[in-house]
Amino acid sequence: PQSANRIAAGEVVERPVSVIKELVENSLDAGAKHIEIAVEGRGTSLIRVQDDGSGIPAAEMPLAVLRHATSKIRRVEDLDTLSTLGFRGEALPSIASVSRLALTSRPPGEISGRILRLEGGQRVSFDEIGAPVGTTVSVENLFYNAPARLKFLRSDNTEFGLISDVVGRIALAHPEVAFKLTHPEQTVLQTAGRGRLLESIGTVLGKELARRLLPLSLEQGIWSLAGYLSPPDLVRSSRQAVTFIVNGRCVRSPVLMRALEEGYHTLIPVKLHPLAVLHLKLPASEYDVNVHPAKMEVKFAHEQALADFLTAAVRRTLLDAGR
Ligand code: ADP
Ligand code: MG
Repeated sequence: PQSANRIAAGEVVERPVSVIKELVENSLDAGAKHIEIAVEGRGTSLIRVQDDGSGIPAAEMPLAVLRHATSKIRRVEDLDTLSTLGFRGEALPSIASVSRLALTSRPPGEISGRILRLEGGQRVSFDEIGAPVGTTVSVENLFYNAPARLKFLRSDNTEFGLISDVVGRIALAHPEVAFKLTHPEQTVLQTAGRGRLLESIGTVLGKELARRLLPLSLEQGIWSLAGYLSPPDLVRSSRQAVTFIVNGRCVRSPVLMRALEEGYHTLIPVKLHPLAVLHLKLPASEYDVNVHPAKMEVKFAHEQALADFLTAAVRRTLLDAGR
């Protein structure tokens, strides 16, 4: 099983940013309202994610680091109605197999917590410990036993850039959660968690910019779309500034990207890229995120109709703003 974990680790945890994404998604699944992420260097010396979520009962902690031991799917049917970000039960065991990991947790109602320490996926200790309610995962020496992974990593700046980009996007996906990212002792990002998307956009992308964005909101049948768009004169030269969020999950979608740009290009002939943060809500049965272990790519059941809906929403928002 340890070799299977390390193979899975190659897919689930490509680099430090993937570890952070998985840990933060676990915190969100646990209903955390505050999530603090500490990173040292490029993330290989230390990544620590602390939350105030539901915690893990002592008896379940050893299971949480076992392969496919997810607590989020009880039956196969659950896959269709799944509302959690995780469901594969691969992240913790994969990360544990290529690091020194400490999982500390205390569910509300318990008087003390537990700390489970692993090295290369092997248990080192499991003890009682004083801990705040919630869960802290600390990952040290990431990829110490995976030299090929280490070699593939870029500089501290590049790796941390990827990390702050992803944390920023996740913060935009969850304005109701207060995020804090530190590197190493400096606060790089801190959102208020007051549930206001525009406020989070101001924190993540800049206040000046947030002030100029156009609100978009449209519902049609099972689809609901809400967020903010750049006005036509605030277009960019790269696609980096677009965040699509589907039911709380940041996704990459060439289909949605094309639909968004088409909405602009019917009004502005130049081929530049808009800035947008868009939350799309639709039934879980309408899309599939299972296409890649990193769960970023999404496939929609009614792709073309959805694309048309987005294009129309964008066009209407821009036309209304132009009046
Ligand atoms: P998955 O998220 O796909 O279920 P993971 O390997 O990421 O698998 O996590 C395994 C299990 O550990 C989860 O199903 C959950 O029960 C528990 N867990 C992990 N992180 C947390 C957390 N921050 N708070 C509460 N439970 C957690
Ligand atoms: Mg998970």
